[in-house]
Amino acid sequence: MSLKPVAKKLSKIIEQPVAFASDCVGEAAASAVDNLKDGEILLLENVRYHAAEEMNDKDFSKQLAKLADVYVNDAFGAAHRAHASTVGVPQELSTRGGQGAAGLLMERELQFLGEELDDPSKPFVVILGGAKVSDKIKVIDRLLEKADTILIGGAMAYTFKLAGGFSVGDSLVEPDMTDIAQSALDKAEALGVEFLLPSDNLISQHKNGTWADPTVNTGNDIPDGDEGVDIGPATGARYANAIADAKTILWNGPMGIFEDPRFAEGTLTVARAVAAATGAGANSIIGGGDSVKALNQSGLADKVTFMSTGGGASLEFLEGKELPGVAALTDR
Ligand code: ADP
Ligand code: MG
Repeated sequence: MSLKPVAKKLSKIIEQPVAFASDCVGEAAASAVDNLKDGEILLLENVRYHAAEEMNDKDFSKQLAKLADVYVNDAFGAAHRAHASTVGVPQELSTRGGQGAAGLLMERELQFLGEELDDPSKPFVVILGGAKVSDKIKVIDRLLEKADTILIGGAMAYTFKLAGGFSVGDSLVEPDMTDIAQSALDKAEALGVEFLLPSDNLISQHKNGTWADPTVNTGNDIPDGDEGVDIGPATGARYANAIADAKTILWNGPMGIFEDPRFAEGTLTVARAVAAATGAGANSIIGGGDSVKALNQSGLADKVTFMSTGGGASLEFLEGKELPGVAALTDR
């Protein structure tokens, strides 16, 4: 948890000394700041050693803010949390006229997840997967207003399958979300958004902690005892086709249990299609911690326009929420 090795690494990268204070507040921090000459850099120890950080404690924020004249936040991934270091400090500084600015990474996140998607070049294709409908339903709902096509994969597809009256075997589903899934389908139809669900799946059985080799299931129903683990090859081809013409692509959530290479083909197929469309001029934006992991695993990370570092923060931002760590800045 200590940031001490980070000071060393940073110093190497920027080829300048970086001093380190063993605490972010109190005597250690104050004297380290006092010892700084103009232009010198000091890294404070991790704020999360103090419980007051996550409580956004006023006194703790004051102590931190006391050290500074200007605040820059480049931690987009923490901007959805109202903590002392993300909200308390810039608020404290602004009460005495100090500025709070977005860093360059934060600025890029806000540009790609915000401006680019507010008014996307069309066709706008949204690819959603991952584990749960409940994690992503607010994003689906908001993007239905903007997207031309929505492609659904991952375990979330089985909740839609269940909503359609089909059986899903032992697949990961949320039976209490079928009404919400159905209303997303209805909304898509009313708005004329093309909403694609998998037409085939890879299925497997999980026994004694290991997965059997997968087979392709082309029927509408998944047999009892089987679990859907990836989109099937026909679905992969349909989705790649839909992605090929896109001018803006947002992808959040892998198409299957990509951590097992036998179930990664669907995610890879989509990754290749997104990379190809990007090469042909599309803007492609990837959000979500596991999606970024999957893209890195595919070796195609440098073939997309932007990969968010946000995880939970990017999801909340895509839902249209104002992030407290962004709202607290005077200059975004
Ligand atoms: P992200 O972090 O990109 O937002 P999620 O956290 O929503 O994505 O989902 C990623 C997880 O979903 C992965 O760990 C993956 O294994 C899992 N997953 C994808 N498809 C399935 C499936 N068919 N069954 C079970 N888990 C799945
Ligand atoms: Mg995740």
